[in-house]
Amino acid sequence: MSQARIFQCPNCREYIATDAKTCRFCSTPIDATSAQSAADAQAIENKRYRQKQYARHMLIGGGLFALGLLITVLTFLIAASSERALCDYLRAHAIRRRRFLVRLRWLAR
Ligand SMILES: [Zn+2]
Repeated sequence: MSQARIFQCPNCREYIATDAKTCRFCSTPIDATSAQSAADAQAIENKRYRQKQYARHMLIGGGLFALGLLITVLTFLIAASSERALCDYLRAHAIRRRRFLVRLRWLAR
């Protein structure tokens, strides 16, 4: 791989390019082979970090979705169990039942 990559200087831990002959912060001579392997390790660490961030974001998104669902269900349950809603339901049911009985009586004539 000819493209310069980034790795941490073994001496001062600053981020430098793999094609540097010496560290631009502490002037430590850089061995090209160890620089490449350090850059490989850095790339793996970066990938792991990105995966961890992705998992964290997915977890937060899922948590917010679950919270929204919980609020929706709770709101529905509270509305459904309120006295007024219950009265409306029973009244509608009674009307339907009365209509049903009237129709039965009409059919049985
Ligand atoms: Zn350095």
